[in-house]
Amino acid sequence: MSTLIDGAMRPVYLDNNATTRVDPEVLEAMLPFFTEQFGNASSMHAFGAQVGGALQQARRQLQALLGCEFDHEIVFTGSGTEADNTAILSALETQSSARQPRDEIVTTAVEHPAVLALCEWLEKTRGVKVHRIGVDAKGRLDLEAYRRALGPRTAIASIMWANNETGTIFPVEQLAELAHEAGVLFHTDAVQAVGKLPIDLKTSEIDMLSLSGHKLHGPKGIGALYVRRGVRLRPMIRGGHQERGRRAGTENAPAIVGLGKAAELAQQWMAHEQTEVRALRDRLEAGIVERVPRCIVNGDPESRLPNTSNIAFEFIEGEAILLLMNQYGIAASSGSACTSGSLEPSHVLRAMNIPYTAAHGSTRFSLSRENTQADVDRVIDVMPAIVARLRELSPFWNEQTASEVQFNPTYA
Ligand SMILES: *Cc1c(COP(=O)(O)O)cnc(C)c1O
Repeated sequence: MSTLIDGAMRPVYLDNNATTRVDPEVLEAMLPFFTEQFGNASSMHAFGAQVGGALQQARRQLQALLGCEFDHEIVFTGSGTEADNTAILSALETQSSARQPRDEIVTTAVEHPAVLALCEWLEKTRGVKVHRIGVDAKGRLDLEAYRRALGPRTAIASIMWANNETGTIFPVEQLAELAHEAGVLFHTDAVQAVGKLPIDLKTSEIDMLSLSGHKLHGPKGIGALYVRRGVRLRPMIRGGHQERGRRAGTENAPAIVGLGKAAELAQQWMAHEQTEVRALRDRLEAGIVERVPRCIVNGDPESRLPNTSNIAFEFIEGEAILLLMNQYGIAASSGSACTSGSLEPSHVLRAMNIPYTAAHGSTRFSLSRENTQADVDRVIDVMPAIVARLRELSPFWNEQTASEVQFNPTYA
């Protein structure tokens, strides 16, 4: 085993659900908008018109990726987080003025903080009732509880398309139909789904959808909210008339152009994602599970993003695994959130009721079209030694557990 330190090895980046590298073609498309094409799209001269045209093109590129019909259904935002916040706050405002006011939110226990932290704040400061639908051990949504939670008081159902930690995919098209049967608006945080799964909004009942540039090889600090024609949107940011008055502030033209290009490329790479990236992920997973005793694959094996693998290495700490992997030039992510300084397992793994000893050692590997078989084989090569070394130090891994080692993994 050679480490990054002794050999000048190419680093292996397997943290693409956290962020992706900007595609060189995206960067190339963006550059002119920092130099010659610096105009303000709102200006009444050629400098403005050029930029205005580029923004329109980006909107069409996104439309093509999402399969939506009208370009004004796309509102550019400053991030995926902003898109999520806008959708939920807008729904609460538009629904509260109805004859029968709706003031409750239906969401899940496993959303990204972009949704969960907002809901928590609304609950604490505005008395909004939030229903957080639970999941089973594989991360699958409790459909019956979802159905029961939807009612005449529900302002919006906000359910993520695919989970960032486990890759588990929720049946959002079906969930949108159920919401509509109850007269409820439906929003989905599709930040992890866009670019990885084929999406066709015109044949779905989804009302609003959030996405983010930097999760699909586009730039950071740019996102978009799809708002179906006819759905009212209250702006979260007020000011100028940009985005038809739905999101004020001079457009971030380079980033919007970059997002458009990233969307176009994602469409071209979609088949690759579904086949090659999936095959690499499966090779990684099978290789690790075969060589490392006592590991569990988290998430729904039947319905999962093609790029994501979340593996629990029992009896050790995810943070320690990451540190050792980092010494070999391998970047991944753990399932613990060290927000409070303590290494609590993430809310997603807790909602799945993953045993404590496994949740702590959960590690997320998230691939992209830039990964190679050599990358994956490097990880398979070093993981057994990394895990063995940490288990030697683990107070939970004693002679007895070691002798009970089962080489056939259990799928949670
Ligand atoms: C990354 C992510 C977000 C936030 O997007 P930003 O553009 O980083 O604000 C929201 N939801 C999910 C599921 C994500 O993975």
